[in-house]
Amino acid sequence: MFDLDGLEVSGVSVGGVASCVDLPGLKSCVDLGVILDRTVARDVVLITHAHADHLGSLVQHVAQRGLRGMAPATYVVPPGIEGDVEALLEIWRRLDGGELAATIRPLPPGKALQLRPDLQVRPFATAHRVPSQGYLFERVGKRLADALSGASRAEIRERREAGEPVHQTVIDPVLAITGDTSIAGLSDHPEVMAAPRLVVEATFLDDRVTPARAAEFGHIHLDQLAALADQLTCGHLLINHVSARHSPAEARKLVAERLPAELAARTQVMVSRIRPSAG
Ligand SMILES: [Zn+2]
Ligand SMILES: [Zn+2]
Repeated sequence: MFDLDGLEVSGVSVGGVASCVDLPGLKSCVDLGVILDRTVARDVVLITHAHADHLGSLVQHVAQRGLRGMAPATYVVPPGIEGDVEALLEIWRRLDGGELAATIRPLPPGKALQLRPDLQVRPFATAHRVPSQGYLFERVGKRLADALSGASRAEIRERREAGEPVHQTVIDPVLAITGDTSIAGLSDHPEVMAAPRLVVEATFLDDRVTPARAAEFGHIHLDQLAALADQLTCGHLLINHVSARHSPAEARKLVAERLPAELAARTQVMVSRIRPSAG
């Protein structure tokens, strides 16, 4: 479990094996490469893309909800894949004989989905080998309209009673998560790099796979994050989706060594001990 400035982030994430990131404070979880008991309670699941290590346990999430008498969850997916995801569930329904009720909802980049009156999430385009997107969570609040800054309480009351708007909506980034992407999926989005908390994939951490090869695979290399250090102004950077070739200890060591010290001090690594015989 990670505490990113008061926000809990937990889960499992090993590149090519399984990813599921739980964000209880943000009323959702991201990806279903594996089923984690606590994520069954999430009414909204945000899918970054349909690779098996991110979507392979979808049917288990759907089935567990049904078994526990919970309402169908909403599964947000990149636009264009919703038909295939529905078809996949339809085959499962035929095989399983159960209802397997689910709402599959395509959500395009930039369009907001309300999670709570004060919380929304917006997809952003990423660059992977299949349709993919990351997610930016934003807090929606109100503050006194700029035109009334410095006004007295009596004046504000007067304006309100006259039916004039005295508040304006303010939207503040809370956390962004990239999912699988090459570096463009991050560097193309200044608003994502500036989010106060950033969960970013870095599948490859050392010289066994070069940044150029990482790009061909549609992934980020740690050296590319190092090169972006000046723009990564987040207070907390959480690296996930590390290749199974790196042990947890090695992953932490490489991150500490290869990121500029100032960024490394703000960085943690989500490492899991799932280690099948991956190369
Ligand atoms: Zn993956
Ligand atoms: Zn992938």
